This record gives sequence, C-alpha cells and structure tokens, in this order.
Amino acid sequence: MPIEQTLSLIKPDGVARGLIGDVIGRFEKHGLKIRAMKMLHLSLDQAQAFYAVHQERPFYDSLTQFMSSGPIVAMILEGENAIRVNRDLMGATDYRQADPGTIRADFARDIEANIVHGSDAPGTAKAEIAFFFNALEQV
Ligand code: ATP
Ligand code: MG
Repeated sequence: MPIEQTLSLIKPDGVARGLIGDVIGRFEKHGLKIRAMKMLHLSLDQAQAFYAVHQERPFYDSLTQFMSSGPIVAMILEGENAIRVNRDLMGATDYRQADPGTIRADFARDIEANIVHGSDAPGTAKAEIAFFFNALEQV
C-alpha cells in the first residue's frame, strides 16, 4: 500500500468545542503520523481561495464565512493510504449518513459545521498541503 500524505483541518466548530485532542487522538491511534501542524485563523479571502472548487455551490458563501469564523488546526497526516484512512475516520459529509464511530457521526450536529476536512485525492492533497505549509514547515 502506498505511503501518502493528506491535509486535515479541524474546522472552527471542532476547535471551539474543545475537540482538538479527541480528533488528533483518533488519527494517531489509527497509524496516521503528524508531519506538520499549526493553528491559524483564515480570512474570508483565504477561505474562499481554499474552497474555490465549490464556488458554484449554493453553500459556498455560508461555508467560507463559517471557515473564517474562528481558529482552525491544519495538519499534514502521513501513512499507508492516508487519504482513504483519514476520510474513513471522518465519516460522510452529512453526519446523519456517517458510519457510527466516525468523527462526524460522534460529534457533528450540522452538515456544514462538520468538525473536520480531509483531502479527497492525491492531487487535491498535494495542492491543499501547499496551500497551508511551506517546505520548511514539513518535518
Ligand atoms: P471536506 O471537503 O470539508 O473534507 P467533504 O469532502 O466531505 O468535506 P465536500 O462535498 O467537499 O465534503 O463539501 C465541503 C464542505 O462543504 C463540507 O465538509 C461541509 O462543511 C460543506 N457542505 C457540503 N455540502 C453541504 C450542504 N449541502 N450544505 C451546507 N454545507 C455543505
Ligand atoms: Mg471535500
């Protein structure tokens, strides 16, 4: 199985609700290594750039306002099939459809404020990692 890197974000709701430790604990317990990590507060412009792929979607304005509403934690996770493993730990976008035991099933109460973001493919992982981290910040 390939060793991959993926970008994980703990969204403003996850940080505000004190879930940083719980979320990171799940990643570490399932073999994902943290290769970079920082807390930051996105501006609206930065959130719009990060989610540009969704700019035609009806939830784009609301999503980008939410993502710039408070601090987030950004991480590079690394491991075998890290993109899939992270997505499986996150659960479905809509917490009502997320498998029991996933982060979103356990904690999310809203389709938009759903605790975490994870890259969905190797190409987006590379671009999203470069959006948040420069080479010096990657261990
Ligand atoms: P993410 O990209 O955050 O990891 P995802 O890949 O599961 O989540 P996407 O379809 O890429 O989901 O949507 C990006 C984000 O937009 C979702 O995580 C959620 O915060 C928000 N979102 C998605 N669908 C809706 C919706 N129907 N209504 C409101 N917000 C939504
Ligand atoms: Mg997505």
